[in-house]
Amino acid sequence: MRQPGFPKAVSSRAASGLFWFACLLLISGCHTEPEKGSVDGIRASTGAITPDRLVNADNTPEDWLSYGRNYGEDRYSSLDEIRKENIQELGLSWTINLGTTRGFEATPLVVDGILYVSGPWSIVYAIDTRKAEIIWTFDPEVPKYYGEMACCDVVNRGVALYEGLVYVGSLDGRLIALDASTGEKAWEVVTVDPGESYTITGAPRVYDGKVIIGNGGAEYGVRGYVTAYDAYTGKELWRFYTVPGNPANGFENEAMKMAAKTWTGAWWESGGGGTAWDAFAYDPDADLIYVGVGNGTLWNRKFRSPEGGDNLFLSSVVALNAKDGSLAWYYQTTPGDSWDFTATQQIILADLTIKGQKRKVLMQAPKNGFFYVLDRISGELISADPYVYVNWATHVDLQTGRPVETTFGRYEDQNAQIFPSPYGGHNWQPMAFNPMTQLVYIPARDFSMLYGQPKDWTLNNDPRAVNLAIGGDKNKQTRIDTLAPKEQGMLLAWDPVQKKEVWRVEQKSIWNAGVMSTRDLVFQGTPDGYFVAYDATDGAELWRHNVGSGVIAAPISYMVDGKQYITVVSGWGGVGGRSVRYTDQLYPGTIYTFALGAHQAPPKYEVVEKHLINLPVDANKADVENGRLLFDAHCNRCHGTPGDGGGAIPDLAYASKNSFERFNQIVGEGAALSLGMPDFGGRLQPSQIENIKNYILSAAMELTTETNKTKRVGNH
Ligand code: CA
Repeated sequence: MRQPGFPKAVSSRAASGLFWFACLLLISGCHTEPEKGSVDGIRASTGAITPDRLVNADNTPEDWLSYGRNYGEDRYSSLDEIRKENIQELGLSWTINLGTTRGFEATPLVVDGILYVSGPWSIVYAIDTRKAEIIWTFDPEVPKYYGEMACCDVVNRGVALYEGLVYVGSLDGRLIALDASTGEKAWEVVTVDPGESYTITGAPRVYDGKVIIGNGGAEYGVRGYVTAYDAYTGKELWRFYTVPGNPANGFENEAMKMAAKTWTGAWWESGGGGTAWDAFAYDPDADLIYVGVGNGTLWNRKFRSPEGGDNLFLSSVVALNAKDGSLAWYYQTTPGDSWDFTATQQIILADLTIKGQKRKVLMQAPKNGFFYVLDRISGELISADPYVYVNWATHVDLQTGRPVETTFGRYEDQNAQIFPSPYGGHNWQPMAFNPMTQLVYIPARDFSMLYGQPKDWTLNNDPRAVNLAIGGDKNKQTRIDTLAPKEQGMLLAWDPVQKKEVWRVEQKSIWNAGVMSTRDLVFQGTPDGYFVAYDATDGAELWRHNVGSGVIAAPISYMVDGKQYITVVSGWGGVGGRSVRYTDQLYPGTIYTFALGAHQAPPKYEVVEKHLINLPVDANKADVENGRLLFDAHCNRCHGTPGDGGGAIPDLAYASKNSFERFNQIVGEGAALSLGMPDFGGRLQPSQIENIKNYILSAAMELTTETNKTKRVGNH
């Protein structure tokens, strides 16, 4: 039901009524439809995205109406004009330069040829795919100091569409509704306490007239929740907290009362974490909304909940009654998480035949390395099997539903190399389920991290401070896993019924891209700047196209005027792409669109030559060493080690002379804040900033010397 008091959409409907009335009077000279891509045309097509249309998204494969394409988020397109037999005819149709080199993680949406995509700093772009032109952009003007409170880059994973509106969650915690035809703001709500370290990078979802949005920030110290708002007005309808608050303040509901019994100590002082920053799915028949819940603050349970406990609902899938947000059931993938094993990874709903029975299932490949199949109505665990190398647990006991942890898994008595790592066996990069092959295609990785139990830990209440409590103890032994596989990224085809891997493609980087499947194909970008099509059955590579920079976002497919297109946004970044890259050059984020028989020339970008900075080091050895320690503590996370860094964020060994002349202004006075460079004034003394500068210059000088040496050797 459309609610009264929503001027824009109502007026568009009224205007369209007048248009028809005028047509009837004039009889001739009237077109039956407003022009595609015009304000009226967009109003008509986006206005027709009704609850019914979203529930039945599989009936309109020509559009890609929501983040995961349908409420089950399977990212399967049934369009089959582009197939294995003709994939060699797939070529570049059009490109659009989005003008920024920060990471693009978004899945675009398309309705009747109008494409909506979000980018770094939560900027939204509306694009007319028929003309390959930007119609409008919307910049929510996120204060740039928020960059420092985004654990994992200033990315945005997508928008939602509903009845003429586009919704975006901004990095600084607002939910904003825009007129889809003009980009004008219809309403905006602040969904978080701006004094705390909340951020939004995930895509909102709309179901039954409600917009649901979560948030991130568990690395810094917040209490997670998801909120449903009225899609027309932005009025808050319900909120579900994912972890309990301070019992002294009373509990919001029975679920919180129950959850509090699984926590110990004063967890609320750090917020507890459990932020739901990405995964949502919706079953309209059951009227359940499924939410993936993240890790705790701190990562290490020993300091978060000192007497142990499962710490509900961290690392869980929670099923909420969509009407009021009350808890229907939950399943915790990693009880008492100590590894950043979030269960925020994508949730896919499907109907599978398991042991002869048709089951309505929910599938997830969370960070912890096990692939879960749950009954999505009851929450019953059907299966849980390792889809990557796992050493923190031996298996999941199907009777208890709990993982059986290894002796070293909690890294209490020794530092331990644990598989998977905080990057996860699978992260936010969307996977896809193909109902034809019955396979799930997972952008996965075998990757480990060394975890250790620090002697003690104090919460740092600075909202910009990361609170993990996992630093190793040098006095303890370190367990390295001698059985560990090669660390690498891979595209896995996983059979959720047979519970086994069917094929894999090994990849150059652990940081890989989201996936989409069509009838007999799987599409995925690569970190070294290609867009690739694989045979969905056996993983054979069938086609590839150079797209300049590395890709992390997932592709989509849609149809415009009877022709099938495939679109992916190239734009390297994200948590695994800030300080490392696999292409020579880093180009601005670019939308690449492909179609059969298309032969558009690739976009031309300026090639930037890089030169090691060559300035005198004005410090003694001790100061340079002090600079190195400070650099590792404050700068390395984004810039990477000088000479060995440089992903979406520059390698400072190659920074300009001017940057070093203004070094203190940039680092200590916020002179580059508009680019997202934090202001360290008040946190670093001028002498410390000077030491950091001299460390970078000295590292660059060493590299210059080495390069010259190599050159001389080479000349002989
Ligand atoms: Ca996390």
